[in-house]
Amino acid sequence: MPRLRTLAQNKLTKYNIRRVGEVVGTGLRIVSLFSGSSGNATLVASGRTGVLVDAGVTASRIAASLDALGVEIGRLRGALITHEHIDHIRAVGVLARRYDLPLYANESTWAAIDGLGCAGKIPQRSRVVIETGRDFFIGDLCVSSFPISHDSAAPVGYVIWGEGKQAAVATDMGHMTDEVLCRLRESDAVLLESNHDVDMLKNGRYPAALKRRILSRRGHLSNAAAASSLPGLLAYGVRRVALCHISRDNNTPEAAWQAASDALETAGARIGRDIDVSLTWPDRTGADWTL
Ligand SMILES: [Zn+2]
Ligand SMILES: [Zn+2]
Repeated sequence: MPRLRTLAQNKLTKYNIRRVGEVVGTGLRIVSLFSGSSGNATLVASGRTGVLVDAGVTASRIAASLDALGVEIGRLRGALITHEHIDHIRAVGVLARRYDLPLYANESTWAAIDGLGCAGKIPQRSRVVIETGRDFFIGDLCVSSFPISHDSAAPVGYVIWGEGKQAAVATDMGHMTDEVLCRLRESDAVLLESNHDVDMLKNGRYPAALKRRILSRRGHLSNAAAASSLPGLLAYGVRRVALCHISRDNNTPEAAWQAASDALETAGARIGRDIDVSLTWPDRTGADWTL
């Protein structure tokens, strides 16, 4: 839990001016709770407002993971949905019905969720329709979405500002676009997909059609593609990157990390000295940063 302080105990700065008696946050926290094709969920929280990006494992697993971080699931202010694949929305129906959590998604994604019917009944009051690219506020967090290339209705990544810091989540992308790079840069932390090693995928046991889908421009981002974007992000001030959605079948955490390390070293940068590169996990938290 962040240490709670009031204005009386704080020197006023540009970023922490609050009304007397309100909590002064101690940074923007971003934690990968679960990451991978079995389910994705990320916590982003200021001192006052906590939201999830995706909720792709069961609500009870999310609740337990948050509990271990000292965050009560019932106090979250919303869940931002990237797209309708089950590894991103498994819990959203339960979160809405049991915890009355507002769910944010664009119109096409809502239509796809309803069409699939896999999230169960979602009460009308829990549905918030967002417009891709338009900023909005949840508590003291400012949120913006941006389009990504993936085989779903209208997939997005998110940039979230709070406590004077910026965090971004960009997974499930067939390829990196200039627009995505532009939205990620200047983030203090980026959760970036590093899904597969291309050779492992090509030589692996997946059926040909699935391999084609993953390798396509609307599939998933390879280690090489993720790694090649890192020097550019570093040049624009990104100092923390978490490698996400790492495939269990077509990748290893070591391979993802090595690709990132090689690309940075080629550009004259080193992990640990110039940039923090962290791994994320399908069954436990990773990349727990307070910015
Ligand atoms: Zn996914
Ligand atoms: Zn997906």
